[in-house]
Amino acid sequence: MSASLERPFDLVIGGSETPGSRGEHAPVKNPASNADLAQVAVGHADDARHAMEVAQAAFESSWWAPDDGGRRAKALGKLAGILETRLEEFARLETLNMGKTIKEARGEIGFVVRTLEYVAGLADKIEGETISVPGARLDYTVREPLGVTVHIAPWNYPLLLAIRGVAPALAAGNAAVLKPASLTPLSAIAFGRLAKEAGIPDGILNIVVGSGTEVGESLVTDPRCRSVSFTGSGEVGHRIAELAAQRTIPATLELGGKSPVVVFPDADLDRAARGIAFGIFGNAGQMCWAGSRLLVHASVHDALVERVAKHAAATRLGPGIEAESEMGPLVSPDHLAKVAGYVESARSEGGKVVTGGARVADAPLAAGNFYRPTVVDGAPATAKAVREEIFGPVLMVHSFESTDEAIRLANGTDFGLFAAVWTKDLATAHTTAKRLDAGMVCVNEAPVTFPQTPFGGFKGSGLGFEQGSEVVRAYTRRKNVVINLAVPKPKA
Ligand code: NAP
Ligand code: MG
Repeated sequence: MSASLERPFDLVIGGSETPGSRGEHAPVKNPASNADLAQVAVGHADDARHAMEVAQAAFESSWWAPDDGGRRAKALGKLAGILETRLEEFARLETLNMGKTIKEARGEIGFVVRTLEYVAGLADKIEGETISVPGARLDYTVREPLGVTVHIAPWNYPLLLAIRGVAPALAAGNAAVLKPASLTPLSAIAFGRLAKEAGIPDGILNIVVGSGTEVGESLVTDPRCRSVSFTGSGEVGHRIAELAAQRTIPATLELGGKSPVVVFPDADLDRAARGIAFGIFGNAGQMCWAGSRLLVHASVHDALVERVAKHAAATRLGPGIEAESEMGPLVSPDHLAKVAGYVESARSEGGKVVTGGARVADAPLAAGNFYRPTVVDGAPATAKAVREEIFGPVLMVHSFESTDEAIRLANGTDFGLFAAVWTKDLATAHTTAKRLDAGMVCVNEAPVTFPQTPFGGFKGSGLGFEQGSEVVRAYTRRKNVVINLAVPKPKA
């Protein structure tokens, strides 16, 4: 791959780069300056159809699906190795296109490498079972790939959240078609260019860029689409679920969050403050599982808020590509306006801005989408900024008097993705983790996940899981075979 930004980023279909049926290109921006960064092909519905057709043909005719998993494991392992040697190049691309700091981008690409290695190890461990049944019969199950799988990704961890679905689908023997977010398609396209080098047959991994409503919906409604994995907003997730239901295909939905961080009075406040700041200001707060609501025991409220606010105020904002930047810009001017609007609404609904609460208006950062890390205290539970996902560096603080009150507040939103607990008491840690309505709980940790641990949300945060040892099987179908072993008696 060459990450040259002069070369246009075209669609990757059937192992070839193509500008798409209409030959259109449009610029993507660098959110640190809002200057044009690269030209990207604009795909349309016919490109989506073409990609699905090519993927179906590759699924049916290449060695990929019929393989016992050994060659797939090798190819995915090779892909991991290639990406690892080019980690810096990919990290720079991700930073320039999405805005995150280069350190965060290295972490993201490193996670993709580990994901590929992990699923490569699962590719040849797809097993069925034999089941004891009455009579002279043998009953067994087999796991088969689904066919063509569609993956639709958001912009906040562009490559990670795309490959988190694509990699296990490939490991299971499927052919994948990926649509990255329109704002941040560069890393996915660059990744698609690596498939050939890794020995993956042409057409098994395809990248189509284009609008969600046109290209995304065309992919999901295509008769060849056998499953969809989607990460993004609840609104679009519901639409995808509707489309998938009409076609009777499975949909994995990883949606938003409004995750609580519960701090008990015995917690190590210095460590908690660091973890809380990381959990809401990391990636400029653009994390589905950001710890965006701090629920702190009243007795330590002031001491903790002061510590978190100190971290916020000390955060060095700057272009992600500069090594000394600790927080990059938000992804787009529209998103900046949305985040700023939430903080204004919190103010007007009674919240007190402890620190931040404004975009960076001074040169040279004023040209980019920089928003200061913000802490808002005491907004009522009914406030819009408390109920809805902001998806920016904005922490909403509430205090509680009793554990029951903390749990009620924690579980009191439509979401259930993640929750954190800070306490030194083992019993408090376990009982609180048990009572929290969240798919993932971290105790005395900022949000942390690994390719081998399941990632998914409860309630409005989604359906199904990504990652973990079951993930490859999720991209297979299970067939039961029963054989009658009774040998017919020879005729007299
Ligand atoms: P989004 O607007 O839902 O978009 C996500 C993807 O869906 C994009 O590729 C988008 O394409 C596409 N899309 C839009 N409309 C579509 C349609 N009608 N049919 C098919 N695809 C369609 O989300 P976003 O704004 O990029 O990301 C932010 C959201 O993602 C937040 O709510 C966040 O919580 C959630 N998220 C969840 C997780 C998780 O693991 N649970 C992780 C990260 C983010 P375009 O780019 O062309 O619009
Ligand atoms: Mg969107």
